[in-house]
Amino acid sequence: MLDYLGTLERTHMCGDLRADNAGQPVVVMGWVNRRRDHGNLIFLDLRDRSGICQVVLDAELTSDGHKKGEMVRPEYVVAAVGKVRLRAQDAINPKMPTGEIEIEATELRVLNDTKLAPFSPSEDAIQNEETRLKYRFIDLRRAEMQRNFRLRHEITRAVRESLSAQGFLEIETPILCKSTPEGARDFLVPSRVHPGEFYALPQSPQIFKQILMISGFDRYFQIARCFRDEDQRADRQLEFTQIDLEMSFPRQETVFSVVEKFLVAAFAAAGVTLPAPFPKITYDESIRQFGTDKPDLRLPGLTDVRSAFAEDNLGTLQIDPALPVVAFRIPKVGELSRKEREDNHPMFDKNKGAKFIDDFKRLAKGFPEAAAKVRELAGASDEDFVIIVAGDPAHHIKASDTKFEGRLSEREINVYAAAGNFRTELAKKYADRHGAFRVTEGVVAQASPGGGEVIDGSNAFHPIWIVDFPMFEYDLASAHWVPAHHPFTAPHEHDMANLTSDPASVRANCYDLAMNGLELGSGSIRIHRKDVQQQIFASLGISDEEARARFGFFLDALEYGTPPHGGIALGLDRIVMLLAGAPSLREVITFPKTAKAIDLMADAPTTVTDQQLKELHIRVVLKG
Ligand code: ASP
Repeated sequence: MLDYLGTLERTHMCGDLRADNAGQPVVVMGWVNRRRDHGNLIFLDLRDRSGICQVVLDAELTSDGHKKGEMVRPEYVVAAVGKVRLRAQDAINPKMPTGEIEIEATELRVLNDTKLAPFSPSEDAIQNEETRLKYRFIDLRRAEMQRNFRLRHEITRAVRESLSAQGFLEIETPILCKSTPEGARDFLVPSRVHPGEFYALPQSPQIFKQILMISGFDRYFQIARCFRDEDQRADRQLEFTQIDLEMSFPRQETVFSVVEKFLVAAFAAAGVTLPAPFPKITYDESIRQFGTDKPDLRLPGLTDVRSAFAEDNLGTLQIDPALPVVAFRIPKVGELSRKEREDNHPMFDKNKGAKFIDDFKRLAKGFPEAAAKVRELAGASDEDFVIIVAGDPAHHIKASDTKFEGRLSEREINVYAAAGNFRTELAKKYADRHGAFRVTEGVVAQASPGGGEVIDGSNAFHPIWIVDFPMFEYDLASAHWVPAHHPFTAPHEHDMANLTSDPASVRANCYDLAMNGLELGSGSIRIHRKDVQQQIFASLGISDEEARARFGFFLDALEYGTPPHGGIALGLDRIVMLLAGAPSLREVITFPKTAKAIDLMADAPTTVTDQQLKELHIRVVLKG
């Protein structure tokens, strides 16, 4: 028999009770986390969002409560009425924040029972993630998940407050809209009223936020849900949340300063300091130094070691002399056996026209001077694992050879990227040895979100701006310059004159923010003039008709006094993931999709009724 709540009112949250509360009458409510039956005494660990406290049901004090205590099981929902008392010295639990006290109950109300759950929220996450996601309502009860979403709340609140204080207005934009220009696949929503026509879910509020600038709102932000029909990865979801902003009359530096302020505030809300201003690096430097445009600065980067080799060395080693020769080191790995090295080989991306040398003993036998010089240039100590990556003349991949003045060629980028990927994979594999990631984990574990002391995050989190991306990329297959960014990205003013005469030299006025190997966000100064916009469309091979059909309303708006403007969007989920020390975005999204794009709890997607399809003028034809 279950009890009613009646007029009972909660006085305290379980996790808030302390020795100071001793002697006070209290009413607490929550879930039975654990139950221990000691005959005349039954102990319930009662759990709510704030934490856990111990309730004692003494048969002599409340025989009715004690009887109910015999019947309740973990995850039953109960209310306990009683008085806080100090625990006996030997019963104090220093591991629990409420470990000095317990509640001596005078009444217990059993508000609900439960089916036996497939796992207990009082324990660590089970391995089977599908079961966790199917029973997400139970999984979310776990302390770790409760912490993640509190953290998410604190971060979001700090961002809102910082942006509001910086003069930004939070403004909503439509979810049912038209295709936006991020270039991923759209999710489409059929229109019932307009047969054969579709809305698109926004890949971002891009066009709308630009129009808000035309409308004079000056500074806009939104915690915006974005939808992209892309293949899923650990750091990708079909729908995700961006901290999206746009401002009028900015320079790049203006945007950077706004972002740095709100990120510093967000990190502080998570209990971590983040030093600002953030360092800045050009795209080319980032590729040269890290082989990627989202570098992880926690480990040493790539070193150019070509000078270690004489020209004939390169010939003997079958290294392409026209391509970069770089080395990187993973600190403190120690000497690896041949077998251990071979186990690493599948991590090297063979499709980039590059090769590697990881057997230094052998290299030192044949080329003692070069080997010593490489280690010296890379700053390697004896226990560091050093790998050389270079172009492989025997493995000529299809890539553009064209070398444009002042720009990295596709071939060069490929070699750097092969080195960069290998570096990242090996860094993950040998994390226990180099210990660089442990620093981050340690800071996250120590930090206490939501006020209190803020701990130093300068060795744990490494934000970095990437600037001066090329405006265009050369597509070998179509022999065309294609946009490297969405088509509203402005070129640098200096490079405008070369738009058609020398597209290779044109730099985009856009920027990315990376942190610890993750892309946190990207943005740009936008094109605000119709003539420039038309030129860009033309240079991107987007015809007038196509531009009209896709963005006509926006092109119209551009003609009515558009101020110079620019902005950025940062992935909120990723920021929370970093600060929660979570291995995947799914740990910081309440109801995420699986890698197969399924919501296991709600069971979506599903088929719909014929009637629904009919109303939408849709016929489904399944292949095979
Ligand atoms: N809309 C862009 C994106 O989602 C960000 C921006 O340029 O503001 O990547």
